Amino acid sequence: MQGLSNCKNGVKCLFSYLVFVRHPFTTEAQFVKADIKADKMATKKVTKIGVLTSGGDAPGMNAAIRAVVRTAIYHGIEVYGIVRGYNGMVEGDIFKMDSKSVANIIQRGGTILKTARSAAFFEPEGRQKAYENLKKFGINGLVIIGGDGSFKGAQKFSNEFDIPCIGIPGTIDKDIAGSDFTIGFDTAVNTAVEAIDKIRDTADAHDRLFVVEVMGRDAGYIALHSGIATGAENILIPETKTDIEELIASLTEKEKRKKLVNLVVVAEGDELGGANEIGAIMKKRLPNADIRICILGHIQRGGAPSCLDRLIASRMGFHAVECLMEGRINVMVGIVNNKVHYTPLDNAVKAKQKISQDWFKIVKILAS
Ligand code: ATP
Repeated sequence: MQGLSNCKNGVKCLFSYLVFVRHPFTTEAQFVKADIKADKMATKKVTKIGVLTSGGDAPGMNAAIRAVVRTAIYHGIEVYGIVRGYNGMVEGDIFKMDSKSVANIIQRGGTILKTARSAAFFEPEGRQKAYENLKKFGINGLVIIGGDGSFKGAQKFSNEFDIPCIGIPGTIDKDIAGSDFTIGFDTAVNTAVEAIDKIRDTADAHDRLFVVEVMGRDAGYIALHSGIATGAENILIPETKTDIEELIASLTEKEKRKKLVNLVVVAEGDELGGANEIGAIMKKRLPNADIRICILGHIQRGGAPSCLDRLIASRMGFHAVECLMEGRINVMVGIVNNKVHYTPLDNAVKAKQKISQDWFKIVKILAS
């Protein structure tokens, strides 16, 4: 490890420090697995793995698929791609993958396996069909890349049938307990930041107040992170009750002292509504303000995954296969305090991450 004091070249030295000392993904600690004892272990050896992406797509899912496929092949395990989430299981849309099937995808957004929400999988008959299809291919272990809904389905399926399921958190919302990161969040939030920065330029040019809506039906992480990173005056999220009087008072006060740029970032699932609803209230209450609304929408889901998302996807995909080989069943592979962490799917489903009140203090003080 290169220490700061030993460096001759200042730039290189700082780089070494950042990469080897400060960067959370390059310390040795990353390879220490959290000591979570599994309740039950599988007795049968996993020889054929199925991998699928389910629920909303998230940039970095391809990197996770690649990691699962290549790790499994390295260990002599066959891998099968299941197309369009649980629908592919129900309909038997399953194909054998090899190392080449995942070539040139680490940098691509979306998912080569496609994703879907499957109504049939909610039904016992649908899950029975899915099981029969897996049996046809001899698949005896599953890796599910998706959000908490997908894990609920996996939990139900593995309770009914003798197939161990390992979850990888792939969702832009970062709303799953048991992992500090979910695949896609970093890319989505950076896309939002880039877009809001551009909005700030035009807001500044016209002295306008913009209400920007970002994704997050139940979780406000994209709004919170992108709002803080772009210097928004107010951030409205579903996890906290929005006090409209306080919002209007703070904007009125800023209007009075001619604070020029005003950005309000709202998560689509705020209990008072998205940008259209919040904007309508603001237009009524602040008649002198020039208010505009911008809904970022699906651009937040697309695009090349960030370095962080590719890293965590690679790491989680690798460990998901290890989990199956070790005989673990029904756990989600997460990263907590820079360690690989296994959470029973049950807990990954039920719990949500809590948002610290400190963030709101930071927003209030920094945007004053
Ligand atoms: P995102 O966070 O992006 O919304 P998600 O995985 O939470 O992703 P969902 O639509 O909630 O997305 O779930 C994906 C799929 O998982 C569902 O379409 C369904 O096929 C399956 N699923 C969800 N909940 C259950 C359940 N209780 N029983 C059986 N299957 C389920």
